[in-house]
Amino acid sequence: MSGDFEQLWAELAPLGRNRTTGGYRRFSWGPADTQVRSWFRSAASARGLEVETDGNGNLWACWGAPGSVEAPRAPADKAAAVVTGSHLDSVPDGGAYDGPLGVVGALAAVDELRRRGLRPRRPLAVAVFVEEEGARFGVPCLGSRLLTGAMTPERAGRLTDADGVSWAQAMERAGLDPERMGPDRELLGRIGAFVELHIEQGRALAHTGDAVGVASAVWPHGRWRLDFSGQADHAGTTRLADRSDPMLPFAEAVRAARRAAEEHGALATVGKVRVSPNGTNAVPSRVRAWLDARAAEEAALHAVVEGVDAAARSSAAEHGVTVTAFLESKSPLVEFDHRLRDRVAARVGGEGGAVPVLATGAGHDAGVLATAVPTAMLFVRNPTGISHAPEESATAADCRAGVAALADVLADLTDAGPAEED
Ligand SMILES: [Zn+2]
Repeated sequence: MSGDFEQLWAELAPLGRNRTTGGYRRFSWGPADTQVRSWFRSAASARGLEVETDGNGNLWACWGAPGSVEAPRAPADKAAAVVTGSHLDSVPDGGAYDGPLGVVGALAAVDELRRRGLRPRRPLAVAVFVEEEGARFGVPCLGSRLLTGAMTPERAGRLTDADGVSWAQAMERAGLDPERMGPDRELLGRIGAFVELHIEQGRALAHTGDAVGVASAVWPHGRWRLDFSGQADHAGTTRLADRSDPMLPFAEAVRAARRAAEEHGALATVGKVRVSPNGTNAVPSRVRAWLDARAAEEAALHAVVEGVDAAARSSAAEHGVTVTAFLESKSPLVEFDHRLRDRVAARVGGEGGAVPVLATGAGHDAGVLATAVPTAMLFVRNPTGISHAPEESATAADCRAGVAALADVLADLTDAGPAEED
């Protein structure tokens, strides 16, 4: 098995990596994304999996009868397919594992089932969801949101990247028909379970000493955009009293985010900001910033956002600046299906073995799909806990343990049996 995983990993690793930073820049529908999608198609085809693209641009590689997820099936087979997978896009200068581990791991798990002489008795598919990070168009898990109907095709089509290219245009340039976007209840109706293997984005497993853990829940989280508008002016001639400097309420909002997060046991981050005109010797006219907030409970999340909003408004009033807040995306608390979670945990923990079950503050396609199908997640230990950065890591041994655990779970969920009986 290690050979399969390592070979696949080595093929994918150079695609979309920035030589200067060592980080990945795989943005949806861009050149690197085209490369990784085409790598996936050939890796899946080499395994005899049939690859389809759904109307939203997500890829599905099916093992079993050709088109076993796409083609109509007997009523008895309804909701019978088991799907695994993750995403291949990255944040700007992201790490190698967030997303790809779940895709490479899924293909390696298919190899592992074959090596064990097993063949699934239910359709098994490997999925790659598009724009999971929201790095190019701002809304995370866009592919899975469109699939489940959590995002309308109209709104998605109008989202634009930093250059003003819309999602619909980018999709079209990649050879897809934006008219096909939208929820696909029929496809979802044929999925009995979705299991995503993912790098842990924290240090819980490093503390417990386990290579693999199982997810219990995804914290509620969201993204808010704050626009501070003032008056551009000369840095050397405008008296302080005469300025409307949007940088000041912006700075206050960043400090308030930290204070509110501390007060409510939550997380709040301002990691992206655009300043206009962005000149060293000019008072800015506008500061646009993005707040990412997450908490174990909805009430705490709400309190954090309210706290930031109140601080931004009061400081803006003091400095003659206007502030507008927009909700860009919000994901409610997701509790993964308890029966599936317990079944997965029992399988991974083995005879009498316990496996850590943990909640995560990171959003995932699994969290979106959980609203439509029974869903579970497996985490692989990340020794430093660092994620969304080039230092994100997992040992080869832990990746192998993750693949073995995923293969165990898939064998169980698909009622896999000896291949020669088929
Ligand atoms: Zn991810």
